[in-house]
Amino acid sequence: MVHSAKYHQVLHASISLDLVVFHRVASDSHLTWHVGGMGLPVSASFKYLGLVFHESGSMTFALARLLQNGNGAKSRLAAKYKELDCDKSFPMMRRLFDAVVKPTVSYGCEIWGTFSSTGLSQELKKMTDLQLAFFRQICKLRRSVAAPIVFAELAEVPWLRTWWSQVLGFMQRLAKMPEGGLHLDILSDNIHDALQNPSVGNWASGVQKQFASLGMVSPFSDGKLGTVDAYGFQQAMLAREKSIWIGLHISPRTAPSARAKLCTYLRWFARPDRCSVEPYYDLPMSITKLRSIMHFRMGSHSLPIEQGRFVRPQVPRHLRRCTFCTTHDVGDEKHCISACPRFDGLRQRHAELFSDAQDSMRSLMWHKDQKSVCAIVLAIVLEAQT
Ligand SMILES: [Zn+2]
Repeated sequence: MVHSAKYHQVLHASISLDLVVFHRVASDSHLTWHVGGMGLPVSASFKYLGLVFHESGSMTFALARLLQNGNGAKSRLAAKYKELDCDKSFPMMRRLFDAVVKPTVSYGCEIWGTFSSTGLSQELKKMTDLQLAFFRQICKLRRSVAAPIVFAELAEVPWLRTWWSQVLGFMQRLAKMPEGGLHLDILSDNIHDALQNPSVGNWASGVQKQFASLGMVSPFSDGKLGTVDAYGFQQAMLAREKSIWIGLHISPRTAPSARAKLCTYLRWFARPDRCSVEPYYDLPMSITKLRSIMHFRMGSHSLPIEQGRFVRPQVPRHLRRCTFCTTHDVGDEKHCISACPRFDGLRQRHAELFSDAQDSMRSLMWHKDQKSVCAIVLAIVLEAQT
């Protein structure tokens, strides 16, 4: 009796699991499944290895859960940091975000990352926005500062590139697997489906579309995964990201308004090629000072060139004149740094920087003496706020 009661208990526990039927057709919706005379309850989804699998076969639900987890991790991280009762540290917050929130959101991206090949779905867009929102929030940046400026200034890798990097790593591991294994069988089916029906929208078709959109040869040949050119792929992804900086006007002062802020950043603040100077945001300083410098460099400050943008009616750019002097020059970042008479004393105190930079704003901004560069910028920002 004892044995049969136990058996019954075990059997009951095992058949009480819900059933998920993938790609169920409408005409089958009335069908029920029975085990030992008992009907199995049918669920729309189940969770396995931390990912949500839905009966429709769509990854939308899995991505929505990852987004939810990521938002939760971000909030908990902020709350825990607050509990520490210490000053906010940009490098520390950034490292924690990278160590906690990024892996939470990116979980399983080796598989679902390929769904971004035809553009970002609503969920994927929200996931990438989470990364941008963190930096906007911690740096207290206006929304008028475009994403490419934020990523370039902070030398931050967009998650989309990270996800594809994981996909490529996964492909390289698959390529090294011995023939005849289960993984390669599944891969072979997946590739076969993608080649037979390009609109199938599976993992392999996502890979194929991404390679094609980057102008690369498909890594699949004869229905198999061939050599994976990971380096070429990463370079092509990087080139695509950087394409936004191509064709910008030579001078921010005469640039068309449409991309003037991008132009200003590129010509005056972007890190020059082969420059190995340690960035200012890794120097020890309070987050208030750090934010002021970030605002100045990314165009989120109170100088006339920015203020004129927000008053209504908007002041034309050439009429946003400096209010610190009587030169009638446009009150932009370069005028304040290198020409405004109000800051003559500042320039004299840091004369070496100016002679080294030889009138190049970018060289000055990336001078090896970042401490002095910060002192100049902070003095100007402080003046603008008073
Ligand atoms: Zn001036």
